Amino acid sequence: MSDTVLITGSSSGYGEATAKLFAARGWNVVATMRNPADGKALAALKNVIVNRLDVQDRKSIDLAITEGIDRFGRIDAVVNNAGYGLLSVFEAAPREAIQKNFDVNVLGAMDVMRAILPHFRANRSGTIIVMSTAAGAVGVAGESLYCASKFALEGFSEAVSYELEGLGIKIKIIEPGSAPGTGFTARAQRERAGFVIPDDYKAFTRHAAQLYAEILRSADSGAIDKVVESIFAAATDGTDQLRYVPNEDARQVLAARRDSSEEAYMALMRNFNRPQLETAK
Ligand code: NAP
Repeated sequence: MSDTVLITGSSSGYGEATAKLFAARGWNVVATMRNPADGKALAALKNVIVNRLDVQDRKSIDLAITEGIDRFGRIDAVVNNAGYGLLSVFEAAPREAIQKNFDVNVLGAMDVMRAILPHFRANRSGTIIVMSTAAGAVGVAGESLYCASKFALEGFSEAVSYELEGLGIKIKIIEPGSAPGTGFTARAQRERAGFVIPDDYKAFTRHAAQLYAEILRSADSGAIDKVVESIFAAATDGTDQLRYVPNEDARQVLAARRDSSEEAYMALMRNFNRPQLETAK
């Protein structure tokens, strides 16, 4: 019997590419998304079903999991991929926008995990793959709120892995770099539309926009494929490796964070952000 994966946020980007890769490699796929009409191409693939799942709607989470188990007999892996970037100057972001970002990126992932755990505990087996980002371990100028949600997700995922490992359940954290070609940037622009940024931040936002463009420019070629391959490896390699860093840009900055002294790391990052500090004067 083939293994089965359930993926959140499969309408585009990494989620859609992950669904295609697992299906191509013989897995059963429960491709979930907020609007199943966005999944017609996936639904046409062998052994793929498309179910509605909004991570802000717990009933839809329970239903998608139940339907997946009914259709394929069991679920072996969950990819907690749904998420988006709230990329804004902190002061300009209304509390409601921050709350929504945490609801999707953090509590949504927790709710999916909570819903699948009884099934995984009963099987004494299961893998939960969490989509973080390099910005889940490194503070990036202009991304304070996104970093906050992904740092929270990483801290939670690392800590909960200890309480689940004795039950045969693995947690895997993916830390991609930047990937032009998903819906991420357009969604981030939509989410911050209408935010009123105090004039004092003009120099900062100009510089943060330059940094963001530079980050996209330095993306790995084939970044999406590398991320998706690392998700597949996390589901299948049988190891207890917690973190996967599929892209070179992320590897560099995370190596600086993890392998350097605090002083060396902060010197590097301040230097990276210095043009913003100078123009802000
Ligand atoms: P994307 O193309 O915008 O995909 C995001 C997916 O999340 C979409 O399918 C979206 O569905 C879904 N989603 C958003 N809110 C949801 C909700 N309430 N319930 C269910 N699904 C929801 O962007 P992506 O780059 O593939 O992002 C996927 C994940 O990778 C995110 O967690 C992101 O933080 C992470 N990531 C991205 C990058 C990057 O540079 N692209 C880098 C590192 C990490 P709708 O179509 O319905 O909105």
